[in-house]
Amino acid sequence: MEFLGRLKKFEGQAAATAGVGKDLVNEAMIRHWCEAMGDTHAAYTGPDAVAPPTMLQAWTMGGLSGHGDGTGRATAYDELFELLDDAGYASVVATDCEQEYVRDLRPGDRVSYDAVIESVSERKTTKLGTGHFITTRMDVLANDELAGTHRFRILKYAPAHRSLRQSADAERPPDRSPRSRPARPRPVVNRDNAGFWAGVAERRLLIQRCDDCAELRFPWLPGCHACGSTGWHTVEASGEGTVFSFVVMHHPPFPAFDPPYAVGLIELAEGVRMISNVVGVAPDEVRIGMPVRLEFTRVDDELELPLFRAEVA
Ligand code: ZN
Repeated sequence: MEFLGRLKKFEGQAAATAGVGKDLVNEAMIRHWCEAMGDTHAAYTGPDAVAPPTMLQAWTMGGLSGHGDGTGRATAYDELFELLDDAGYASVVATDCEQEYVRDLRPGDRVSYDAVIESVSERKTTKLGTGHFITTRMDVLANDELAGTHRFRILKYAPAHRSLRQSADAERPPDRSPRSRPARPRPVVNRDNAGFWAGVAERRLLIQRCDDCAELRFPWLPGCHACGSTGWHTVEASGEGTVFSFVVMHHPPFPAFDPPYAVGLIELAEGVRMISNVVGVAPDEVRIGMPVRLEFTRVDDELELPLFRAEVA
């Protein structure tokens, strides 16, 4: 309780004061953002352009070089981190962010900001471990007028004492194989890709083809990237392919994997590409352009996986 009291004293303290954005709101940054996001909304171009609201925080960031002059820096946030570190809550994970938009930001606006430690939670236990949530609220101003708020929440925590290997074992599905080793991670099967995994269970590699424009797509998606149609059917891959690119994994060692192993980006004869292991040659003998052939491997009681075997003479 005494410790919580010390944490609570940080509520309301400044995390940044009178910070100033490095650049005025400008068309070039807006354009780059829209290109990166694939956002083609008309409001973000032309003489009356506004900045995308979700850029709010971008205008306050120091970039790689930081806010060199220490602009906006306050010490309370660092002190709070130190207090939590010293108490054993040394890990940190960002949990969520909320933004509110008050007015548009337009090219030429001068951005400034203040940030406050809004709340420090009591001790919470999560799947990751036990710790305290810290919520920081940044008020973003355009020409000294509130433009929006950005709330950012992190968890400072002490990790739960489970090693990777133990946690994989704990979540491991029933496996009656005589070898006691961590199971391969399960694929995330959802309504968008269930048909793919149903195909794999039958040892068929299915590619989606658009009903309207016949474009093939892989991995599975609900809509066509070429024409937007949601109608599709499947074609079965012949199993022929070539190594388009690859990496050889040495480190880090994940439970259920034995490094080194080759992970290939395989270009199927049909033209789409998929990622899977390349087997049949030593990992360091895998080459770009190498012909490979699909096969299926039974990993355990529940899991069938497609992989590619090098076709060596
Ligand atoms: Zn299409």
